[in-house]
Parts: sequence; C-alpha cells; structure tokens
Amino acid sequence: MNAFDQRLKENNKYPLKAEDINTLQVNIGYRCNLTCTHCHVEASPDREEMMSVSVMSHVIDVLDGNDRIDTVDITGGSPELNPYFMYFVNLSVSAGKRVMIRTNLTLYTEPDMRGLLSFYAEKGVKIIASLPCYTEDGVDRQRGKGTYQKAISVLKELNSLGYGKEGSGLELDIMFNPFGPGIAPDQRMLEEAYRQKLWEMHGIVFNHLIALSNMPIGRLGHSMSGTEKIEYLKHLEENFNPQTVDNLMCRHLISVSPDGRLFDCDFWQMLNLPVKSEYSTIERFNYDALSKREIVTNQLCFMCTAGAGASCTGALT
Ligand code: SF4
Repeated sequence: MNAFDQRLKENNKYPLKAEDINTLQVNIGYRCNLTCTHCHVEASPDREEMMSVSVMSHVIDVLDGNDRIDTVDITGGSPELNPYFMYFVNLSVSAGKRVMIRTNLTLYTEPDMRGLLSFYAEKGVKIIASLPCYTEDGVDRQRGKGTYQKAISVLKELNSLGYGKEGSGLELDIMFNPFGPGIAPDQRMLEEAYRQKLWEMHGIVFNHLIALSNMPIGRLGHSMSGTEKIEYLKHLEENFNPQTVDNLMCRHLISVSPDGRLFDCDFWQMLNLPVKSEYSTIERFNYDALSKREIVTNQLCFMCTAGAGASCTGALT
C-alpha cells in the first residue's frame, strides 16, 4: 500500500473512489506558444499531439448522451492551437454544457486570434486565465519576457467585453501557481491581493482566483534534484488534510487525452496512468462504470490534499 492510501486508510477514506462525473476535462492538444517553467504538460510550440475531429466527435457523443455531465473544461497546451478548436467549442455549447477554456491569454494578441474573444462572449464561454503573479517580473520569470504585458492587454479587452463584471454573466477566473515547488498560499487572501493590485495598476476586474500548487512532474519535475523532490513530497505529506479528500477533483471529473484515452486527472494523463477500468477510452465511455471507478493513487496525490487542498477549480476546503 502506498503512503497516500495508508493515510486514507487511517482516516476511513480508503479506497479512493469516484462519486460521480460532472465534468469532462478535455485536453485537445499539448502544443503551446509558450514554454513555462512550471508546466506539468511540458507543452511547447514543438509538441504535435492534437485531438482529431474523430476523437472530438466521440467526446460530443458522450456529452449528448449524459445529462449528468454538465461541464466541459477545455485545456491544453494552448487549446486554441488545435485547428478544430472553434468547432469543438460550438458543439460543446450546443450540447447544452457549461464550457470553460483554460488559456495563457498571450495568444490573443496575435491578429488572427483576437476574434476568439468576441466568439467566447457570444457563446457565454467561461475563461480561466493563467496569471501566476500580479507583477511583471513574477510572470515574465515563469513564462518568458513580454508575456505579462500581453496578458494584461488581453484582460483589459476581456473586461471591455463584459468579462469579470457583475451581472454580465461572463465569467473570468484567474489562476495562480507558485514559481517553484510549494503549497499555494491562502486562496481568499491571495484573491484579495490580486483584486486590489490588478485594479490599482491596470483597472482590471475578475470573478475569482484559483490557487493551485505545483505538481513536481513535467518541466518543474525535471528542474528539481532527487533530494528536492523527496523533500517537497515529504512537506506535502506532512501537510495532509483529510478534509480535502471528499472534494478531490478526480472524484468528480474525468480527463480525456488528445488521443481519446481516459485518466483520473490531467496529472495522470501526463504520467500515462490510465483509469482502472475496462472502459478506458472516450469511444467506450460508460458513465455507470466510470462514475464508480477506483481512482489510481500514489504519493503525488499529497499535492492535492496538502493544506487547503488544490484542484483545477481551486482550494478544496
Ligand atoms: S493527483 Fe490529485 S486529482 Fe490526481 S488522482 Fe491524485 S488526488 Fe486525484
């Protein structure tokens, strides 16, 4: 039994099982215009993995056939770089689902990408914008020179379309992650700091802040020594909070890779640890079986359960 399962057992929460599936988190391609230092996907302009129209159509079939899935969370890389991105967004919206896009924002400064912002507003798509710091230095250090100014100009444009403004119905969340290994600070306090700074410095508003810790895999994992990794995992384990377990994202979502395979989360997708089920592809999706599946665990799950907990939608407690 691994150390994480042992802690679950001590807290009468073993084995870790899914409770339902309300979200399909669909990774439509690992290509990205940036090469951020923390990226667990190791996304870059050179990645070629891209979801095909045929896999997308299986995803849409699952959305059409399962009312209990109410959200489509579209991610990448930069999902906008998939040539069938708009087609997929359109079909997901037509399926009656809540659609959210995870973006690094900077692509929308390219002339041929600008139009996507009004497309999102027209479709009522939610934007989850990664902005790892409210200072220029903090963002440029993680993402590359000039990325902060680009992101800020796009946030202003999103605000001018109504995003992040009360009563508009257009949601804009900002996603924070630390520079290196570390548990994300208190989400509520960080949200207030972002709100104040972005307003004072740029007149920018947003709905909520999502604080995510960094998983020591992918590009961040490669940059750490063996000792650093062991110490970070020990630190996460020491901060294990059993109250986070019921809300873990893997208990309520399933992650789809560009080639249509299914995973408990995007992290396991990157580590090639598929769901423990005979229904392990989107083509063979079976809601009843998958919504009760036992979740694959290992020591890295302490990242999601340390402190206030961490997930793609924010803190868990
Ligand atoms: S890493 Fe987190 S989301 Fe993934 S299986 Fe472990 S606890 Fe669940």
